[in-house]
Amino acid sequence: MTDEDPADGVDEADASPYTLQRADDGDEHHAFWADDVADRIVDREPSEPIVIKGGISPSGVPHLGNVNEIMRGYYVAEVLRERGHEVRQVFTADDRDPLRKLPRTLCDLEGTLVDLGDVNAGALGRNLGAPYTDIPDPFGCCDSYGDHFSQIIADSADAVDVPIDLLSNTDLYEAGEFDEVTRYVLEHADRAREVLAEYQDTVDADGDYVPFNPICSACGKVTETVTGVDLEAEPPTVDYVCTDMDAGDQTIGGCGHEGTATIREGKMPWRFEWPAQWQILGVDFEPFGKDHAEGSWPSGQDVSRNVLEKEPPVPMVYEWFTLDGEPFSSSAGNVILVSDVLELIEPDVLRYFFAKDPSKARDFSVERLDQLVDEFDRFEAIYFGEVEASEDEREFAERVYPLVVEEPREDRIRLPYTFAAVLGMTDDPDLREEIARREGHIADDAPEWAVEGALARVDRARNWARRTGNEFDYELKRTTLPDHEFDAATEAALDELADFVAADDDLEPDALQGEIYETAKRHDVPVGDFFAAGYRLFFDDEQGPKLGPFLAKVDREFVVDRLRRER
Ligand SMILES: [Zn+2]
Ligand SMILES: [Zn+2]
Repeated sequence: MTDEDPADGVDEADASPYTLQRADDGDEHHAFWADDVADRIVDREPSEPIVIKGGISPSGVPHLGNVNEIMRGYYVAEVLRERGHEVRQVFTADDRDPLRKLPRTLCDLEGTLVDLGDVNAGALGRNLGAPYTDIPDPFGCCDSYGDHFSQIIADSADAVDVPIDLLSNTDLYEAGEFDEVTRYVLEHADRAREVLAEYQDTVDADGDYVPFNPICSACGKVTETVTGVDLEAEPPTVDYVCTDMDAGDQTIGGCGHEGTATIREGKMPWRFEWPAQWQILGVDFEPFGKDHAEGSWPSGQDVSRNVLEKEPPVPMVYEWFTLDGEPFSSSAGNVILVSDVLELIEPDVLRYFFAKDPSKARDFSVERLDQLVDEFDRFEAIYFGEVEASEDEREFAERVYPLVVEEPREDRIRLPYTFAAVLGMTDDPDLREEIARREGHIADDAPEWAVEGALARVDRARNWARRTGNEFDYELKRTTLPDHEFDAATEAALDELADFVAADDDLEPDALQGEIYETAKRHDVPVGDFFAAGYRLFFDDEQGPKLGPFLAKVDREFVVDRLRRER
């Protein structure tokens, strides 16, 4: 919107989508941002059900970044439901959008990343410019390219336990849901052109731009050159010529076909389609990323108010987050799917991540996932009043924790994540439990479900160690003695260390670490070689974790026997 545009009568503050950053209402702020947003929605006295929307063009790998939008909408939906409102959370697959460029990376339904070269890239290349739902699924498992990626989004929402109505834009067009608003926009094409010309230099306010893109019946591509409109037909039709489409750094060639399409056989351009979705779905709230805040939101709210004459939904810009410090990029391989994340952390921890303030940029660090898990564990402990916390932390935990977990259960047990990673060095479930009990993390009277929940984290921490190759990525070779060859001095030192371990039934981790050094020195074995001998015996590796503290955690008989090379 510009200053020279008095017609709309909307002040700048109302048009700003930075809902969370605004402090213009003088209201008390809640401990949870979703309550602030809910206030704003309820202030407008919306009809029920209140509709919350999100959306994505299913163009490639649907990764963790895309789930941001679903989770943000979810928290607002939950807060409104808690206040007694009926809420519908919809998510549109904007799958009538044309494929504008070939993605470098795709993924199958299991979330495995696949290079473009490993699927039928030629078939995809021939379909540049066609709607996603008209392109064959490169994996052959779903009805179309669009359906394939929509399925992954649906699975991701399921995995974080968020109920969404996933709607296909193509289905909405084909069912005639867009008929009325499309006809209206075509009837008011002059006004549509005037509004859009303020945002797009390529559109001339007095030109012949028509806000509709039919699908060419000859080549199947979405075309942009409309030569006539017949609003008397039922449904209305447009005449078109299939011309070239400008797709960023390349041109997608049109076939030259001249034809006629109904308004169900095409789509509105995004800047009209988005506000049209708000209208036909009755959207009351929509969160979106910064790209839309500077791009299609300013034009969308203007189109909504001044072409469709409808109030746009309450907007909310959320910050993107980075992955290990870099932007998400499926082509650069910097991408992680929800299914991958849930192999590393519990769904509760991921849901917690998205409960944090959306107006702050954050990093999702796989390398330092232990920090996020520790933070969640503390948040949980604050809720149960088990640790000291500031007033703000306590208010946040009390409000948000019940929304993050399925059910607050005070008896739950959380093994510290890095401790779980240490336990993950052995795949023996009994040993894992024994060590966790011995170290005081599991009480004697702990309920069975809590023990199971605690130990389930060990597998996740083990996956984390494997994925990152970090200092916990070692595997205790418990069942078979690894091949080894030591000189006499080393063997004597190992035997003496075994005696030391056997003699003390309550070994201090640091004491054992010190004794390893001392034993090596007494036998004139270089310290590095002596540690290497230990890593060989226990991990069949040249290196490993800090040996003393680790061995102090493992059962003593096994350690003694292994140092003596007996089993
Ligand atoms: Zn598929
Ligand atoms: Zn064509």
